[in-house]
Amino acid sequence: MYNLSNRKKVMEQRQMTLLERMYLPAIFGGMAITIKHLFKKKATVQYPEVQRPFSPVFRGLHELKRDEKGAERCTACGLCAVSCPAEAITMVAAEREKGEENLYREEKYAATYEINMLRCIFCGFCEEACPKEAIFLETKPAPASFERKDFIYGKDRLLVPLTESHQQVRAQLQAQKA
Ligand code: SF4
Ligand code: SF4
Repeated sequence: MYNLSNRKKVMEQRQMTLLERMYLPAIFGGMAITIKHLFKKKATVQYPEVQRPFSPVFRGLHELKRDEKGAERCTACGLCAVSCPAEAITMVAAEREKGEENLYREEKYAATYEINMLRCIFCGFCEEACPKEAIFLETKPAPASFERKDFIYGKDRLLVPLTESHQQVRAQLQAQKA
């Protein structure tokens, strides 16, 4: 027989003791490790009920913003969609009608605006590209779901709700016109 090298290791063929043959030392050793970990501080948390503090630079779900009068800031220019490396943003533009000035800030607005959160990598490029300060990534993470459709975020979930101060500004403007 041809030997590749002269190195060899002689294996020990020691007989196992009775205790070893019953595997008791190994079983008790394993149990000791398990019991030791029961009293250690847990490395996991019960997400989503319990959440760890996020980094101050964390980028979460997007929000479409309103101006101080409550009008939608987005003008459907498409720059966010063009700058998105994941092609996660789609929108349909529409022209503002007469009398809709309090709803949309610009003459053009996004009739539909959708972000596919399964595609999004939360890079923040859309926020940087927006010339109207209309879209920002906020601190809320995208909730988990078993349904793919739950990850398509439309304006119903992206647009921030009207606040009391928006309503007050609108009421003041109405009063000035009257
Ligand atoms: S955060 Fe990045 S990947 Fe997500 S929608 Fe914006 S540009 Fe696209
Ligand atoms: S969010 Fe900003 S960049 Fe995107 S379409 Fe609206 S105005 Fe343009």
